[in-house]
Amino acid sequence: MAAKKKKIKASGRFGSGYGMRVRKKLNKIEFLQRKKQICPYCSKAGVKRKAAGIWHCRKCNKKFAGPAYVLERQV
Ligand SMILES: [Zn+2]
Repeated sequence: MAAKKKKIKASGRFGSGYGMRVRKKLNKIEFLQRKKQICPYCSKAGVKRKAAGIWHCRKCNKKFAGPAYVLERQV
């Protein structure tokens, strides 16, 4: 009998203790968070999140404040 594989992404580390709904939300947010974001200064995808609201661009080496989770392309 084949073992049942769970399709849980980043939220897998929490187990079942938090409920499905919050874990799905978390997956969405963390997925976006890990992608490289587009820099508002040099418009290249090199921005990574350092902490909540703190972003750092590796291309132009700028550190700036922004939204907590995802850097939107809103210039
Ligand atoms: Zn930049």
